[in-house]
Amino acid sequence: MARIAIDMDHVIADAHKGLLDWLSKTYAIEPSMLPGQRFKDVLSIDQHFALSKRLETAEFFFNLKPVVDSIETLKTLQNNHEVFITTAAMFVPNSFKAKYEWIKKHLPFFETKRIVFCGDKSIISADYLIDDHIHNFENFKGRGLLFSALHNELDTWPDRLSGWNDIGRFNF
Ligand SMILES: [Mg+2]
Repeated sequence: MARIAIDMDHVIADAHKGLLDWLSKTYAIEPSMLPGQRFKDVLSIDQHFALSKRLETAEFFFNLKPVVDSIETLKTLQNNHEVFITTAAMFVPNSFKAKYEWIKKHLPFFETKRIVFCGDKSIISADYLIDDHIHNFENFKGRGLLFSALHNELDTWPDRLSGWNDIGRFNF
């Protein structure tokens, strides 16, 4: 049995789709205009500011859709492993309640004691950390598995998972 820490935004909750839908609706900016680039490199200062404000709302987090296949695979995974959700919620305090309620709504089977709201993820003690940001692997003692997202497609990392099918197939 392995201990697996899994990030929430962009991995379990589809923050990417939430952001892209908002950018498309508000500024007619489409995903094809963003490959491998951070939003701040593509958007104007005003657009990026508006996006940052959107990201500070509880509504944004609560209304995200689950990433494809995440719920079923998580269910299976936690039957065989010790699974934690580790989210850097400290950077967006307005998200605390919305994230907690989101997990209760979409993952009712997930034990409350395995939800970790944190800041610096190097404090996490686990065999694996699945995350969409390689900076979260700095000083992490276990093995970091990069979950593919638009903003990390140009990053070089030895272990990359392209989706929840890859997590389901991974030999933990
Ligand atoms: Mg994330």
